[in-house]
Amino acid sequence: MGFWKPRRGSLIADGKSVLTFIDDPKIDWLGKRVFCRLDFNVPLSESGEITDDTRIQAALPTITYLLEKGARLVLASHLGRPKGKARADLSLEPVATRLHALLGREIIFAHDCIGDGIKKLISELKPGSVMVLENLRFHSNEEKNDESFARQLAQSIDVYVNDAFGAVHRPHASVQAITRYISIKCAGFLIRKEIENLGRLTSNPQKPFVAILGGAKVGDKIGVIAQLLGKIDTLMIGGAMAYTFLKARGVQIGKSRYEEDRLHLANMILKKASSLGVQILLPTDHVVVSEFRSDALAQTVSIMGPDDIAIDIGPKSIGEFERAIHFAKTVFWNGPLGLFEWEAGFKGTFGIAKAIAESEAFSVVGGGDSIAALHKAGVADKISHISTGGGASLEYIQGLELPGLVALS
Ligand code: ADP
Ligand code: MG
Repeated sequence: MGFWKPRRGSLIADGKSVLTFIDDPKIDWLGKRVFCRLDFNVPLSESGEITDDTRIQAALPTITYLLEKGARLVLASHLGRPKGKARADLSLEPVATRLHALLGREIIFAHDCIGDGIKKLISELKPGSVMVLENLRFHSNEEKNDESFARQLAQSIDVYVNDAFGAVHRPHASVQAITRYISIKCAGFLIRKEIENLGRLTSNPQKPFVAILGGAKVGDKIGVIAQLLGKIDTLMIGGAMAYTFLKARGVQIGKSRYEEDRLHLANMILKKASSLGVQILLPTDHVVVSEFRSDALAQTVSIMGPDDIAIDIGPKSIGEFERAIHFAKTVFWNGPLGLFEWEAGFKGTFGIAKAIAESEAFSVVGGGDSIAALHKAGVADKISHISTGGGASLEYIQGLELPGLVALS
């Protein structure tokens, strides 16, 4: 075979960096104190209940593997944006409780992540035991990538494992600086799964390759669009973002949300797409309201009036998008096509979610709201890869260097 095959436990991530993974036979785990940076940044309800434990579930293969190997585990994560202050509503204690239920074994919960008390707890850990540290972001030094904070996190630790794919684009102490103080380091199974699947989009994707981008802001997604243009055959744009593109094309968009300062960028993308022969599909009909209220009366139009506010793509557009998806071999979707949280604005997003689920294509979906829409539409299990990464996935697809991966290689 002409293809380069990764050896067990390692992978060339972006053509230059070699990562070691936790199943590398060279690593001896027995009795080792392992600092595991995970992504336990789960959504919580107002009463503090975990509303979706996907991210905890996604960390389980790495946790159980290390436990089977007899390691002593110290699990660390951030949760929300406490901005350097301890906040009871952003404690990781509910995560520790959920882990106890999922793993069926005792979980030690530490009420901080650094300090003498923590050091003592780590030194007393028995092989096969699990400790969860309190939210790393209760210390502002985490986000400052502070060296002395990183050194404290690394105290008494033998091996560093990063499996927090959702955080690898952040140059934070537990992701980057800490790796300078622990000599043995590697990536976990979730990171491997993410880069293998996202890598299928960036290197030799099967054609036709279609990308569907939506969501609220052009600014959030413009880098991905620019990067994908050289690889894809068709780009479909929906969501509020579509109206910046339609406006750039001189289409009447009424009072729909658009970004004035991105019009020139939208124009450049349209020009670049046409020079590369990439087909761009913009919505040709729209679900509109005349007042921005979830209970406002909605109607479908092809030509928007001066007071119309678009909240979704219309049925004709859904059909056009579905056809392109049907013939695709590779599909990437990020960003809802409409205001899917509203009764009148979910059909575009659900229609596209179902079309992707029914297609034979290798499909990747990313973005918190898009994934929520997949679950709501009941088709999440029919997607080839649901990326847990959010911002990290988008940066990976753009070919940007991810500090957390660079630090491991
Ligand atoms: P993701 O989380 O999947 O990356 P984004 O956060 O970029 O997606 O965008 C999701 C948001 O975009 C949703 O809250 C949705 O209501 C909003 N949105 C989509 N289409 C429209 C529209 N036409 N007008 C206003 N908001 C929209
Ligand atoms: Mg979002």
